[in-house]
Amino acid sequence: MSGLQEYFGERHNRLRQTVRKFVEREITPFVDEWELQGEFPRELYHKAGEAGILAIGYPDAYGGSGGDLFLKIACVEELMRCGSAGVVAGLGSLDISVPPILFLGTEDQKSRFVPPVLKGDKISSLGITEPGAGSDVASISTTAVRQGNHYVVTGAKMFITSGVRADQLTCAVRTGGQGYEGISLLVIESATQGYSVSEKLKKLGWWASDTAQIFLDECQVPVENLLGQEGQGFYGITENFQNERLQLSVMANMTSQLALEESLKYVRESESFGKSLWKSQVTRHKLSDMATLVEASREFVYRVAAKIDAGKNQVKEISMAKNFACMVSDKVTGDALEIFGGLGYLRTSLVERLYRDNRILSIGGGTQEIMKEVISKLIFR
Ligand SMILES: Cc1cc2nc3c(=O)[nH]c(=O)nc-3n(C[C@H](O)[C@H](O)[C@H](O)COP(=O)(O)OP(=O)(O)OC[C@H]3O[C@@H](n4cnc5c(N)ncnc54)[C@H](O)[C@@H]3O)c2cc1C
Repeated sequence: MSGLQEYFGERHNRLRQTVRKFVEREITPFVDEWELQGEFPRELYHKAGEAGILAIGYPDAYGGSGGDLFLKIACVEELMRCGSAGVVAGLGSLDISVPPILFLGTEDQKSRFVPPVLKGDKISSLGITEPGAGSDVASISTTAVRQGNHYVVTGAKMFITSGVRADQLTCAVRTGGQGYEGISLLVIESATQGYSVSEKLKKLGWWASDTAQIFLDECQVPVENLLGQEGQGFYGITENFQNERLQLSVMANMTSQLALEESLKYVRESESFGKSLWKSQVTRHKLSDMATLVEASREFVYRVAAKIDAGKNQVKEISMAKNFACMVSDKVTGDALEIFGGLGYLRTSLVERLYRDNRILSIGGGTQEIMKEVISKLIFR
């Protein structure tokens, strides 16, 4: 059909196959065990690094393999097929913590902090949220006071993905006065004296990703680890949000897709009142609505991604896409659980995990309400 825009070409499809095989071989068989353990083996970072999965979308100069946003999307979609969004979030913590280094960092910082993470030798986390500051990023209170060649950093970070075993933290700190202008970004290595980590935080979902509180007690961080200039941190953080929101939207769509696929399989195989569930018009209509929502959300997210790739400002649209994808995944995972009946409530069914894992997607990277704040400011201009 003329004018039909395809988002995925040969290169994307080849990569999709590679990631699919990797997931089938290295992740899916072990997922249930890792979910119960509350983490996956550190070795998986190495394996994903060796397979080139962590390098997708990053510049060649720092160990990346380049490519457009749709390569990353294809990769996340295939990783999500393992059925544990916790694994995807844990492996993906580099995707929220490395971009600010590339965006604001010097050549030296990029060369020091990026290649080991893309190889899977080091684990990288992002530290923005604090016990007293989540949505209101501008109110963070972790301080970094310059003393000679160091910043002395004191404070705490909360809910940090991969935080239990991260080797480096791209960390928001206050170097100046109140408000967003006083915020800077520092890369803090976990080996720094005064850096300590809580037990793994127990969560509703994302069990296979380790999440921690991080304590910074007069950590001496070299001034060479400051990204950009003092006061540029908030800029680095907001730039990064677009990327994070896109990935969370893709994760939400895949959560919906898997819930839909599981439901279709179940309905085909199950009977109630002596007839196949598929014969029930109510069930068929529910599945039709689920499929329609998934399709609409996926197309919207792809369209926004294509515009971001083309360099267009999509702050409003990506906020809309994230909220829409999460609204859809809330509905579709709920409907899937209903279709499964009691079996959907059991730990043995994938829809149970999808339902739990889904819940964080509309909170992380900016809550529904914060997305609506962003959208409302931009539609009233
Ligand atoms: C599993 C998990 C992993 C995470 N990973 C990371 C990570 O790796 N790095 C990191 O830095 N953070 C991480 N986070 C933190 C996450 O980004 C925050 O939880 C999120 O930004 C919300 O902040 P909060 O929890 O402090 O909620 P709050 O900001 O306290 O919000 C509570 C409620 O108030 C509402 N609200 C707040 N302000 C407004 C407003 N102005 N208008 C209307 N409503 C408002 C919110 O929408 C929400 O409903 C993670 C969280 C979880 C649970």
